[in-house]
Amino acid sequence: MAIDWLSPAFLSEFRFAAIAIGAGLIVERLRPAQTRQSWRGLAFNLATATLFLYLTMLLVPPLSGLVDPWAKRISLAIPVRFPDGVAGSVLQTIAFFVVFDFFFYWWHRAQHRWRWLWIQHRFHHQDRYVNVTTVHRYHFSEEIFRIFVIFVPMAVLFDFKPPTVASVWTAFLLWGYWIHMNLRVGLGPLGRWISGPQFHRFHHTPEYGHVNFAAIFPFWDRLFGTYHHPEPGVFPQATGVANATDGNTFYEGVVLPFVEWGRAIRRGAGGGDGAAGRAAG
Ligand SMILES: [Zn+2]
Ligand SMILES: [Zn+2]
Repeated sequence: MAIDWLSPAFLSEFRFAAIAIGAGLIVERLRPAQTRQSWRGLAFNLATATLFLYLTMLLVPPLSGLVDPWAKRISLAIPVRFPDGVAGSVLQTIAFFVVFDFFFYWWHRAQHRWRWLWIQHRFHHQDRYVNVTTVHRYHFSEEIFRIFVIFVPMAVLFDFKPPTVASVWTAFLLWGYWIHMNLRVGLGPLGRWISGPQFHRFHHTPEYGHVNFAAIFPFWDRLFGTYHHPEPGVFPQATGVANATDGNTFYEGVVLPFVEWGRAIRRGAGGGDGAAGRAAG
């Protein structure tokens, strides 16, 4: 089947990303957490975002379509259904994301713990200037893995009143833009329950080690012992990976994980430790 590279679906996704990133960059000017950011880093992230969005839009829907019926066939179908109406819809959405974030938390923690997965996730962390554009700075294979480690287990275990894949993806993206913003905004005590830019900035700070893995609900970190409550007014300036480059080349962003996986297979390396090592894993 021929691929329409400029189909309306692709274009609307790009328009959404462009508007969200543009708005985010303007808001970041008002109260930046990190005052000196690199224009070169920003340009690289925007180029990476374009590639990431293209590849995920191309690969994820057909893969989900293939996997979904299979997951439904073996599903335990534990019902999670709230009544119709505004309150019910809100609760339905919150319930979905609480479960989603549980799986995200463990997947994300495993990415920091095991070398095989850190190879893939490191690129996201090499950004020395975390800002709204960091949200799409991922190796594209992360999105493919998430189908199997987040969406398949959720589909196997639960029967949610179906939020469409598109709406979940949109909501998750919006939240991703929010938590990556280079913004001097603290949430105070509310930050124990809901994530924000300060919470996630600590996740990107090498000196704090590997904390704050949840995407949306920090209570998963609190429950499993990886929570670092942001101190009031503290916005760490240094982000990135200790003793590593800034990763700002397409070789590191796209090709290198495959090279490293190949090397690891040839060496017959076992799982091994990721960045977090045994202490935090
Ligand atoms: Zn991470
Ligand atoms: Zn991040």
